[in-house]
Amino acid sequence: MFSKQAYHGISTFRQMAASYSITKAQKPLKDVRFTKLFINHEWQNAVSGKTFPTVDPSTGEVIAHVAEADKADVNLAVEAARKAFRLGSPWRRTDASERGRLLNHLADLMERDRVYLASLESLDNGKPFSVSYHLDVAEAIKIYRYFAGFADKNHGKTIPMDGNHFSYTRHEPVGVCGQIIPWNFPLLMQCWKLAPALATGNTVVMKVAEQTPLSALYVASLIKEAGFPAGVVNMLTGFGPTAGAAIARHMDIDKVAFTGSTSVGRLIQQAAGESNLKRVTLELGGKSPCVVLADADLEHAVEQCHQAVFFNMGQCCTAGSRTYVEESIYSEFLERSIVRAEARKIGDPFEPNTEHGPQIDKEQFNKILDYIKIGQKEGAKLLCGGERYGDHGFFIKPTVFADVNDGMRIAKEEIFGPVQSILKFKKLDEAIESANNTKYGLAAGIFTKDLEKAMYLSQALQAGTVWINTYNIVASQTPFGGYKESGNGRELGEDGLKAYTEVKTVTIKIPEKNS
Ligand code: ADP
Repeated sequence: MFSKQAYHGISTFRQMAASYSITKAQKPLKDVRFTKLFINHEWQNAVSGKTFPTVDPSTGEVIAHVAEADKADVNLAVEAARKAFRLGSPWRRTDASERGRLLNHLADLMERDRVYLASLESLDNGKPFSVSYHLDVAEAIKIYRYFAGFADKNHGKTIPMDGNHFSYTRHEPVGVCGQIIPWNFPLLMQCWKLAPALATGNTVVMKVAEQTPLSALYVASLIKEAGFPAGVVNMLTGFGPTAGAAIARHMDIDKVAFTGSTSVGRLIQQAAGESNLKRVTLELGGKSPCVVLADADLEHAVEQCHQAVFFNMGQCCTAGSRTYVEESIYSEFLERSIVRAEARKIGDPFEPNTEHGPQIDKEQFNKILDYIKIGQKEGAKLLCGGERYGDHGFFIKPTVFADVNDGMRIAKEEIFGPVQSILKFKKLDEAIESANNTKYGLAAGIFTKDLEKAMYLSQALQAGTVWINTYNIVASQTPFGGYKESGNGRELGEDGLKAYTEVKTVTIKIPEKNS
């Protein structure tokens, strides 16, 4: 999700912003090129003819109206994807190395259009342009290339089975994959799902989030330009309870991959169970802890814990929203965290020094402000922020709470906004118990110079990813996913291929003697 150089502190952030002239970015208000459904390589209106607006969260203004897919459009997209998957189809006859070449070509086209893609992403999502350009688009390109390399290296095994038999396994594509993605990293969530699916020879019906349809549609146009056969990728814009649910329940979709809230993840799994038992992978919510020990490099730990929760305006499934700090450094940690949060540069995503844009929409904006009120009511101490910023768009000031305890809702529930809860602990085992006292298990951070304590903690914390003296470092090569109610299955890395292949065992009888 985030490149290595991406978030090592504010100075790096400013260098990044400065290293790319913002004047080259254009707010592409009048240059939205694709707003229809992409089915079988054709741009189509929804069967119902309906459209819905997508909004610039920094102003609240409508950018464009896009087609609103429903069950009927999902059916058409699945038909196209099924046809493209049939044995003997152009896609099934495509060599694995050629699939890799096509993915690399897609990455080349994204590099060509990197400024436009990043501009579209920031316009529709509200994240700072420098982040879209240096991180979202850059990482997406790398991920397509990473999986391109795997396309012809997806080996099975030969197995010395008992008896006079020869046995080998083939890693075959699962078939038609339904993919439902969220709005917080539109391009990245798209490539996390598309790249492994295509590298392994599947076909796809993807529904993008209703808040951020634009960059995904543009990538669909590049998929066509890259030369993928028609029907291999179908891109739908529409709402969850209609188009999304139709994917989850469809009888001719073989697998569904979902990233989003735990509550919707539950519905997806249920729908799969009630329909055709399609394979399900889920990447869901989180309430990730950062544990800061007294011996940590304090300046670094404060900065990392700040970025852990405030990066992407707190709209990260990995957000390190619970900061556990050892008692002896607690007061100083609080003071420094307030200074840092108040210094966070909020503003227009297209301004070069902006670190912090708006929340995605009015609904999230209201939900976060409600949680801030709940925190105050429950007795947490509001140290800074706690209110909207400016008088238009959906901006919320970085908010820091102290004196939080595990029982409070702000420490238990996923807020998905710029709200840091700082909790105090005395003993390491007490911190571990509190950190694990959650239904989630996506990520965790540890800050200490003591190697033994770091190793002990990293084994004890129940999370799919543990970062030590850093946070939010995600790359194409390393698997990502959750323990507990944060999901199941892994994306990225070699492990990410498993979700998109069926393992077939082929066993051949060897004659006992030469006849
Ligand atoms: P958030 O609350 O962050 O918007 P959601 O889990 O609601 O997260 O949304 C993530 C994705 O899931 C979006 O593409 C959304 O349209 C889709 N979605 C929402 N509800 C459903 C549903 N009932 N069935 C399938 N997909 C859904």
